[in-house]
Amino acid sequence: MLCVQLIYRPEMCPSLREIDFGNYVEWDLLFIMLRQRNLGRKDVSRIEKVSVPFVPFELHPALLDLLLGRERQDGPSNMVLSLEETRELICDPSIPGCVECLRNMRPGCGGVARPRQPDDPEEGLLHPFDMKLDNFFGRIPSVDAWMVERRRLVGKWKASFKTFQSRYHRPTLCLFRVPEYILL
Ligand SMILES: [Zn+2]
Repeated sequence: MLCVQLIYRPEMCPSLREIDFGNYVEWDLLFIMLRQRNLGRKDVSRIEKVSVPFVPFELHPALLDLLLGRERQDGPSNMVLSLEETRELICDPSIPGCVECLRNMRPGCGGVARPRQPDDPEEGLLHPFDMKLDNFFGRIPSVDAWMVERRRLVGKWKASFKTFQSRYHRPTLCLFRVPEYILL
């Protein structure tokens, strides 16, 4: 949520230089936020360091550039960065991995999906974010279109996962950790 607030109000927390995202980062929001905050502003400090669970190899160069206050023309699109990229993997029982590792595109997880048992707990998921954006809309028209599309994708993600969960159980978390992944 901090990411979203910073997208629409990049002047917020002017001295903020570091953000720790804990277990999960939504890449599209992070990239948009870094563009709003780090490119072409003199009145706030740049976000120079982010702690995230894992950085997929193909996102490395574009993310590093944004942390340095630059943008590359061939950077990944919002769609590539979005949760849609992992939706089908997470909802495919033949793909190994816990929810957290798959969402973070972190390889090496030993978790497996298995058919659902009657006594499996119903697990609610905090992510992906489904934001109430009405207060923000109109401030940055170039971002609004993606936010509308994103809301649709979040709905799709949740619907897919709900269907998957009605038949299968996939562990939410695992003990596999890259100790701490800090960029810059
Ligand atoms: Zn895992």
